[in-house]
Amino acid sequence: MLLGAVADDLTGATDLALMLAREGMRTIQVVGVPDEDLDIGDADAIVVALKSRTIAAADAVAQSLAAAEWLIAGGAEQIIFKYCSTFDSTPEGNIGPVLDALQARLAAPLTIACPAFPANGRSVYQGHLFFGDMLLSDSPMKDHPLTPMSDSNLVRVLAAQSRSSVGLVPFKTVDRGAAVIRAAFDKAIDDGHRAVIVDALTDSHLRVIGEALADMRLVTGGSGIALGLPENFRKAGKLRAASGTAAFQVPAGRGVVLAGSCSAATRRQVVAAIASGVPAYKIDPLSIASGKITAQAVVEWIRSVPEPLPLVYSSADPSEVSAAQEALGRQAAGEIVEELLGLVAAELRAQGFHRFIVAGGETSGAVVNALGVPALRIGPEIDPGVPWTVSVGSQPVALALKSGNFGADDFFLKAWNLVA
Ligand code: ADP
Repeated sequence: MLLGAVADDLTGATDLALMLAREGMRTIQVVGVPDEDLDIGDADAIVVALKSRTIAAADAVAQSLAAAEWLIAGGAEQIIFKYCSTFDSTPEGNIGPVLDALQARLAAPLTIACPAFPANGRSVYQGHLFFGDMLLSDSPMKDHPLTPMSDSNLVRVLAAQSRSSVGLVPFKTVDRGAAVIRAAFDKAIDDGHRAVIVDALTDSHLRVIGEALADMRLVTGGSGIALGLPENFRKAGKLRAASGTAAFQVPAGRGVVLAGSCSAATRRQVVAAIASGVPAYKIDPLSIASGKITAQAVVEWIRSVPEPLPLVYSSADPSEVSAAQEALGRQAAGEIVEELLGLVAAELRAQGFHRFIVAGGETSGAVVNALGVPALRIGPEIDPGVPWTVSVGSQPVALALKSGNFGADDFFLKAWNLVA
């Protein structure tokens, strides 16, 4: 193994694994801290998917360190800490505390934080994160059910969560190429910084930043930050010829869409799917809590639908989400939906469903845990950052795991048609 990554949620891990596979690394995604005896075959890169974005910071740190320890023992020369391209976190973390802990473990004098993902409209300019043409704090992320983002200044956001002094490598430096960026890293260390936010507006920026990161033990960011890293290993003669994503086979069986994301893109995708005639069943935390909606009832409805692709969704607008959160609490409202969708997925698999399209990072984590999937092989890309995957091990299932804000409006049918 050359490159090891710790991702704070499942869809983020998939997005990163896809990026590394596309750039020519044999990549496997592992779900949860791996067992010591997990066979990784001839993988160049392993992405460990945790579900640590919104758990207590101390737990996120412990799990991330355990994953890093496993990656280091497996030979990883460089570690990526992958989080969302919208820097999803709370004032308590967990990006800062995990970054601090991994940096200490790797004895890295400096690390970077760069969530830019230009293909999906996330760019960083003067340390400020943009979501398309909006500042992050003006974007729909301000209403996220678990990690509302109200500040776009990442230097400030990270400094508040981290013990590190945080600096900035601005656009005008990045634009001058890898050598100038490396000099800026040296200067940041001299200035007493342990982390720097790095501006990036385009994939070209990400590639030159990647080049400048060849010797950095810990790199943190969105999946975009991995764009230029495989080339460093290739230049050093360590990476064998690209294997791509060949030999990808999707198991036969019925499919279902499970959408637990309330992000704007997912809500549009739900509307578009219904408008295209996809039969849909809406669930909500209050009805689940009162026992009005049960996993069994949802499964029965899905089985009764003749069309190939039923949709179950809890996606709701911010006012509905707040009402449920006021009644049940923020965490509990989320968990009750995740738990139900997990139960539904497990029951459906037992009944011969082998293709799952899941919307939402946390939701995908819940579904994959409920299905007991140990690792995923990466397949064809559906939309930027979202591939089909197939689980490793006995009884394989195909999973399209979508971060809430990813994908075009027709994502669900597009995903289905790619394997139908
Ligand atoms: P995203 O990728 O868009 O962030 P996630 O699945 O990570 O989506 O997070 C969405 C969270 O919101 C989950 O915990 C989910 O269970 C919760 N949730 C889903 N629907 C509702 C709802 N109607 N009300 C409150 N919370 C909800």
